[in-house]
Amino acid sequence: MTTFIKGATILAMGGQHSAEPFTGDVLVEGDRITAIGAAVQAPTDATVIDGAGKLVMPGLMNAHLHSNEALFKGRYDNMPLEVWMLYSYPILAAKRLSERLVYLRSMLVAIESLKTGVTCLSDDLYESPKAEMELLGAAFQAYDDIGIRATVSAHVVDKNFLDTIPFTRETVPQHLQDEVNKLSPPTVDDYVGFVKQAHDRYHGRSGRLRFMLAPSAPQRCTPELMLAANDLAKEWGIPFHTHVVETKVQGVTGPALYGKSLMRYMNDLGLLNPWTTIAHSIWVSEDDIALMGAAGVSVVHNTISNQKLGAGIAPVRRLLEAGVNVALGSDGICSNDTPRMFDVMKAAGLAHKINNPDWSRWLTASKVLHACTLGGARSALIEKEIGSLEVGKKADLLILDMQTVNFAPLNDIRNHLVYCENGSSIETVMVNGEVVVQDGRLTKVNEKALLAELRALMPEFQAYTRGVEAANQPFEPAFADIIRRCYGTDLGFTRWASDAG
Ligand SMILES: [Zn+2]
Repeated sequence: MTTFIKGATILAMGGQHSAEPFTGDVLVEGDRITAIGAAVQAPTDATVIDGAGKLVMPGLMNAHLHSNEALFKGRYDNMPLEVWMLYSYPILAAKRLSERLVYLRSMLVAIESLKTGVTCLSDDLYESPKAEMELLGAAFQAYDDIGIRATVSAHVVDKNFLDTIPFTRETVPQHLQDEVNKLSPPTVDDYVGFVKQAHDRYHGRSGRLRFMLAPSAPQRCTPELMLAANDLAKEWGIPFHTHVVETKVQGVTGPALYGKSLMRYMNDLGLLNPWTTIAHSIWVSEDDIALMGAAGVSVVHNTISNQKLGAGIAPVRRLLEAGVNVALGSDGICSNDTPRMFDVMKAAGLAHKINNPDWSRWLTASKVLHACTLGGARSALIEKEIGSLEVGKKADLLILDMQTVNFAPLNDIRNHLVYCENGSSIETVMVNGEVVVQDGRLTKVNEKALLAELRALMPEFQAYTRGVEAANQPFEPAFADIIRRCYGTDLGFTRWASDAG
């Protein structure tokens, strides 16, 4: 299959054409870009797309999401992370979902992602009550069927929940502690056996799908498990993906549990590496930022989720200056509540303007676009394959109609992409050289039928969810108390809007 996009405006984001949009052609042969420039010669059998009035750009990258939250889309509001997690990541009463429901849930995320220009995502997949090979397979199958590029984890927690948050032993009623103590998290051997099988079975599928290691967070996993996952990530050349200091409570957790910040704890264990991707990184000190920069880690900035859960604002400018690679993510589908990355780009462009009066330090549209393309690709360790339009790279690209109201009148294309566009100008989405969205419609799956099937399953699922919520609600007063105690703890800095970021 050969496709020739002729006479388009091209925003390449890399290679010799990286700096400015230009008018030219793109040739795609098989799954790769084989030529890009001002006057490309195309084979006579190529399918020609007239690029007049169109913009060709790299597909967007969602570098951190949890598809398991997708069935709770639009369900919760006005809860901080630790309260919200009682419901979205329940401690008690969760039951295994069917493989079909997991398939449809993953499909829901992929449908919205592709139609809004996300060609690649990193899905940190958590299954309640535990990861299972067939359920992980259902997610991989959905991403395979729809044609998206994805890196998928089997998220793991191997510590007693009560030992992952400060003050639980003093605040959680004893009868609830007794219930939690009955749960049995996986052992390190269980986990290593599982991820080896998952890697063998799913990694590399269809040339688009990859596996990653994702221990939940340093305070939620034993050092033995974190180190085992990190070693396997290094050996297999895949990301070690985790969460560090999303909230003030987590900022207090490091000193409370380990006598040092969680980032310093990660560093001292040898877990900060170029293959390490850290979601959030909000409650980091200057010392933490220096460690992260020296190690060359990636951070995924999930600004909409962080606003929705009141977590704070990550010091992105300081992270970039320290040498940290910054990517963008939607985060979970019920803390956002969509995987649309045009929304995330706009929010990221805006958020840093309200926590710092020095406008010379505000993020530019170019920096935001870089984070949502090459930065994301680097966080998934596939920056040599995707993230920009360059000869030899995979053909993951968007064709946007620039005759829409979003581009009228046309001024600076990058500003339009970050602040004016919402994905509605997208005409064509190509992944791995294959057109997966054409004129706003998915080409490989029947969206209407899939959504109808999902809707039919919702009454039963929502009745089940109400039962789970009722079982976990009794934890809420204790968590309100824990949050108040942590908010009152002085870390020497803050990451809410009053900070000079
Ligand atoms: Zn997350």
